[in-house]
Amino acid sequence: MNNMIRIAIQSKGRLNEQSVELLQDAGMNVNDQKRKFLDRVDNFPIEILYLRDDDIPEVVADGSADIGIVGYNEVAETAADVNIVRQLGFGGCRISLAIPKADEYTSPKYFQGKSIATSYPNILRRFLEEQGVEASVRVIKGSVEIAPAAGIADAIFDIVSSGGTLVSNGLKEVEQVIHSEAVLIANPDLTPEKQAILDSLLFRIDAVTNSRGKKYILMNLPADKVDEAISILPAMRSPSVMPLADNSWCSLHSVVKADELWDKIERLKQIGAEGILVLDLDKVIE
Ligand code: ATP
Ligand code: MG
Repeated sequence: MNNMIRIAIQSKGRLNEQSVELLQDAGMNVNDQKRKFLDRVDNFPIEILYLRDDDIPEVVADGSADIGIVGYNEVAETAADVNIVRQLGFGGCRISLAIPKADEYTSPKYFQGKSIATSYPNILRRFLEEQGVEASVRVIKGSVEIAPAAGIADAIFDIVSSGGTLVSNGLKEVEQVIHSEAVLIANPDLTPEKQAILDSLLFRIDAVTNSRGKKYILMNLPADKVDEAISILPAMRSPSVMPLADNSWCSLHSVVKADELWDKIERLKQIGAEGILVLDLDKVIE
């Protein structure tokens, strides 16, 4: 069907909730309660196909789905022929080599002749080849981190986010091979009709992702401090300045990054800002 696109997302697991939330924030009525295998959205020309993450890149490459949301690591592993259309800013992790923590490590030559357990054999083989290292790759699908203690392999190549799992299994991370986050992928041969639907979806997704990690801030400020405030608060173009009834004061509005918020508030207070309000941002259209 050309008047609609199909998106593949993870049916359950770490990326499911945030994938659904992104589509909902982009205005789509996604009913994730009565989640079916295939679900039509009633207020946007899209249907949602819920799959295991491993299957998403290939299903998009062969056109069974037009687009998908999946970890970049799965795209790299399958080497599927898809376009990466957007990085989505969630599901961040890295895939790393880890070894028993008592071992000394100086370079990838450590792995010469060793065995490495992983669920990502293709990414690992590419890395070993680049490094000119020969090692035996053991594919295991789950609980990779217990392989060295269980005598299944000398080392592992696995997903790391905080590193806590490695430490509790007596391992240390020695090489970060790829960094990953959730990406929006698309079939490279979309019809013009489907491309047009994707473009309007991207417009909405960008408005949502642009608002993330940002706050709207407004305050009253002595009129002679506006230039100083502007240097503290460079906004999308520049802060809006509005006169107040008392013309020695004005009202100033701007957008700041959430992680810089408290530092900026301190500096604004020092130059005399009062009545500072901080609001959540829902959408930002640039
Ligand atoms: P499925 O049943 O769909 O095959 P899965 O068990 O293979 O799921 P999940 O553990 O749900 O996969 O992880 C999905 C994706 O989330 C990973 O491929 C990766 O991109 C990302 N991710 C982010 N942080 C982590 C982490 N700490 N551990 C595992 N995956 C992570
Ligand atoms: Mg999987």
